[in-house]
Parts: sequence; C-alpha cells; structure tokens
Amino acid sequence: MYVYADNAATTAMSETAVNAMLPYLRSDFGNPSSLYTVGQKAKEALCKARENIAKNLGCEAREIYFTSGGSEADNQAIRSAAEFGARKGKKHIISTKFEHHAVLHTLRKLKKEGFEITLLDVHENGIVTAEEVAAAIRPDTCLVTVMYANNEIGTVQPIREIGKVCRENKITFHTDAVQAVGHIPVNVRDDNIDMLSLSAHKFHGPKGVGVLFVRKGVYISNLIEGGAQERGKRAGTENVPGIVSMAAALDEACNNMDKTSAKLSSMRDRLINELLKIPHSVLNGDISHRLPGTVNICFEAIEGESLLLLLDAKGISASSGSACTSGSLDPSHVLLAIGRPHEIAHGSLRLSLSDENTDEQIDYIIQEVPKVVEYLRGMSPVWRDLQEGKRNYVIQ
Ligand SMILES: *Cc1c(COP(=O)(O)O)cnc(C)c1O
Repeated sequence: MYVYADNAATTAMSETAVNAMLPYLRSDFGNPSSLYTVGQKAKEALCKARENIAKNLGCEAREIYFTSGGSEADNQAIRSAAEFGARKGKKHIISTKFEHHAVLHTLRKLKKEGFEITLLDVHENGIVTAEEVAAAIRPDTCLVTVMYANNEIGTVQPIREIGKVCRENKITFHTDAVQAVGHIPVNVRDDNIDMLSLSAHKFHGPKGVGVLFVRKGVYISNLIEGGAQERGKRAGTENVPGIVSMAAALDEACNNMDKTSAKLSSMRDRLINELLKIPHSVLNGDISHRLPGTVNICFEAIEGESLLLLLDAKGISASSGSACTSGSLDPSHVLLAIGRPHEIAHGSLRLSLSDENTDEQIDYIIQEVPKVVEYLRGMSPVWRDLQEGKRNYVIQ
C-alpha cells in the first residue's frame, strides 16, 4: 500500500486544478498585457481568478497581488511594512519563534539592517496569545506577523484577537496563512488582517504560485522591479495557467471545506488516539486548536530520520518537520519553541492528511508506525539505558 501523508509539505493537484490550467497552456496562452484577442482572453481569466480568490478570502479583487508562492508573499509583506515603518522612525517588529523560515529569515535579515525584532515564545500547547502580543507592543512597533496555523504541529492561532489588538494600536498585522487557507475558514475582514500570504500548492493547486492580500490603504513596495503588472507592485508576466488553477483549487477547497474537514478530523483523531498508545510518546500542540489534517507526535529514544526512512520503505510518505530543515541535523525550531528538549525534538513524526487519504490508509499507518518504533528502540542504546533505569524518561 502507498500512503501520502505529507500534505503540509505539498499536495497533489486536484483534477479540477489541472483541468482549469490546461487551456492557458494551450490555446489561450497569450500574454495578458497584449491587446489582441488571445492576450485579452488571458487577461479576462486573470481578472476572474482574482475576483474568485477575493470572494473566498472576503476581500476585494484589487486587494489581491499574485506572487510566486508563500515565501515571496511573506518576504514582500514584511519588507513593505518594514520600509514604511522605517520612514516614520518605527523599526520594531513582533513575531513568534515558530514561524516559517520565509518569515524568520526575512526578519533575521532586517535585524542586520537595523530593525529590532521581538520573537515571542510559544506555549507548550503551540499557541501564542493576543495578550502576549499586546504586551510586546512598543511606540516604535511597525509590524506584527504571526502565522495563522503552524506548518509542523498544526496549531491554529487566535488570529482574530491578535488582529484586533493590532488594529487598536494602529499597527500593521500580517499573517502567514499558507497552512490555513483552503483548510479552515479564513476571512480577512472578520479576522482583522492587513496582509495575508497564501500558497496554491498547499490546497491542491500548482507549485510556484501564491497570493499576497494587502488591505486597501496599507502600503506595499515591490520586491521585483520591471513591468507594471500587479498594479506596479510585482513585475513579471503573470503565471496565468498557475493563477487560474490556484483560483479553481481554492474555490473547490472552500466549497468542500465542511465535508473535508469533518472527514480529516476524524481520521486525524483516530491517528492521535492510536499512536499515543505507543509508550513514551506525546502529542505536539494543542489537541483542539488544530488543523483538521495535521498530527505531530514525539517518540522517546527515536531518531526521526530513521523513522521516516523505514516508513518510506513501507510505502508511507511522512515528515519529521518542515521540508526546509530536513537534510540538516538540527532539530525543528518549532518543537524547540514549544519547549521540547533537543533529544525529544529529534524523534518527531508529522503526518498531514488530505481528502485523498482513506480509512484503510489510516489503518495501515496505525499498524506500521508502532512496529517501526519498536524495531528502532530495539536497536537503541538510549532506549536500553532508559529501560534499565540508567536514565530517566523525558516523556512519561
Ligand atoms: C509551505 C509554506 C510556506 C512557503 O510557501 P511556498 O509557496 O512553498 O513558498 C510558507 N509558510 C508556510 C506556513 C508554509 O507551510
């Protein structure tokens, strides 16, 4: 059996998303900036896609800027707010320790450029509160950026409350909503969001295309200079097939959200209940404020990489953290942020589901993971020491 359980890394494109893009790869291939018919057809498709995405986010079409994905949207949002703040002498930014690297590394660069960055601690339950954000605000704060849902542990943040605090203090609020959009209800107006990043390939759309939502009246600058596309804010011929496909994928995800979410959360809860029966294992992140399809568990005395390789051999594609950190031996910054010690953070397993997963596949995971954990522990000197009482268990 083959099981793809790494949908937080990327998803397979849906049939709808593939079909939506095909005409714009073939007959309607024109450049939307061209005046003749084939170009105008592409332009029309672009307009429709923009309107459709705006509808699903609860904003206006002119507040949507197409980008090459979530990373670019994060970079542009943060750089824009920083630039605007600096002009007014405000060079303090608030974020959290468990953001995606697209946010953290942009902030690290800004720090070198003279900004002061406050990275909030994250509670053991994987949640940052609005009160903590409020307490970190200073007169020179120009931006708060807090992710909507965490990509490794799946916890959902109190975005509406954080947005409210920012609004009250007249501070720009950006959220990396790459894991949230298309999975849980997101409405930029209700949620008091000024800027939001999303990425198509996390909801069964294509890779290399995303959106930066910028509320009208909020300043943005461009990362890429060139033509006047995206109202002068993002140069480069638009990725029409990708954008049309993204709009179709988002529409499909939003239309089916209730149904998908019910199915995924029941599969997710079954995984959590069954896998936590493995001795000395612990769930990462709050049990209730959680994406419908994401499970992240640490196993004592297990090396995450070995676990993944053995699961791969059994046909299960999973992850131990973010795709960006795998390949390095550093433990996940997210697990460290929620207070897991290094040796425990190394033994993590993330399973992220989509509506393409079946109950049989969940049964298979539930059957195979305990066997692999037991096998690896059987070879582990650390496990032997724990069993013989020469060391203490970290996970009880
Ligand atoms: C995947 C992801 C990104 C990056 O999006 P890309 O389109 O791959 O650049 C950013 N933030 C989060 C939370 C993600 O999960």
